[in-house]
Amino acid sequence: MGKFNRFGNMMPPDEVMRRSYLMAEEPFQIYGNLYFVGNTWCCSHLIDTGEGLILLDTPCLHELAYLIDNVYRLGFRLRDIKYIVVSHAHADHYGSVQALVHLTGAKTFIGRVDGEDMIHHPEKFEVANRRWCGRIDECFEPDVLLEDGDIVELGNTKMRCVLTPGHTIGVMSHFWTAYDGMESKKVGIYGGAGFVTLTSSRLKEMGLDDHMKVVFRESIDKVYDEEVEIMLGNHPFHNDTYEKHEKMVKEGGNPFIDPTEWKRYLDELKECYARFLSLSEEEVKEMYKDSAFLTYRDICTPFLKEPVSYS
Ligand SMILES: [Zn+2]
Repeated sequence: MGKFNRFGNMMPPDEVMRRSYLMAEEPFQIYGNLYFVGNTWCCSHLIDTGEGLILLDTPCLHELAYLIDNVYRLGFRLRDIKYIVVSHAHADHYGSVQALVHLTGAKTFIGRVDGEDMIHHPEKFEVANRRWCGRIDECFEPDVLLEDGDIVELGNTKMRCVLTPGHTIGVMSHFWTAYDGMESKKVGIYGGAGFVTLTSSRLKEMGLDDHMKVVFRESIDKVYDEEVEIMLGNHPFHNDTYEKHEKMVKEGGNPFIDPTEWKRYLDELKECYARFLSLSEEEVKEMYKDSAFLTYRDICTPFLKEPVSYS
């Protein structure tokens, strides 16, 4: 998996991007009113608030069909999505927003810093979107620009949005309570754990400087003491989403409930990030050369016996 563990190069290889249906997997209930509707590359979470659904993050547009399928397979209707909250301005988290707004009329939320970046510099995002992901993703026009500490409220859910910049300049982490009948659990998701965007040359490309390297580290400390009983991931390999679900099905119980995971995860992130900072740009480049995606899921193996390059 390389020295960066779950924080290495998580872009699926071209062969998988080309056949994105390979990322489709069945949806499931994580806990009470909290559901997983993402794919093996990107997480999307659905909250049934009693007065409509909140969707946290969307996949790239190429993977929209699998998200829609997942919503219906869980017994919900797409038009019940009232709010779409986006963690940060990268297409693997917002690529389907415009399409979903078109289909549902949902209200959209993103942190002010990332939102304004997207509004004022669409050309920067267009270039990135043509280069990455499905190459068809488009920016969206957010209805609400969130400030640090803002609460997104719908039905029984109050989602607290905390600014944790570094991965992008305005990425947010989210905290709320999930309900299962009379019981409840505190849920948390760290908004931007990837640090490959923080090499000096990538920062320069984005018009930023090395100070972001310090900001990234400060953001981890900012939320380190949050009380989190269920830790979600931006990507399934961040919290072993599918492995936990498999365990749940086979052994019963709920492996998603783990009050120690939040701090263990952030400790691992701090450790990997320190390693990243100690390496030269050349060494970092070398470590990100190959996708680490397949080491998490072997579903694509049959298709990769004779890898094809589409670049
Ligand atoms: Zn990102």
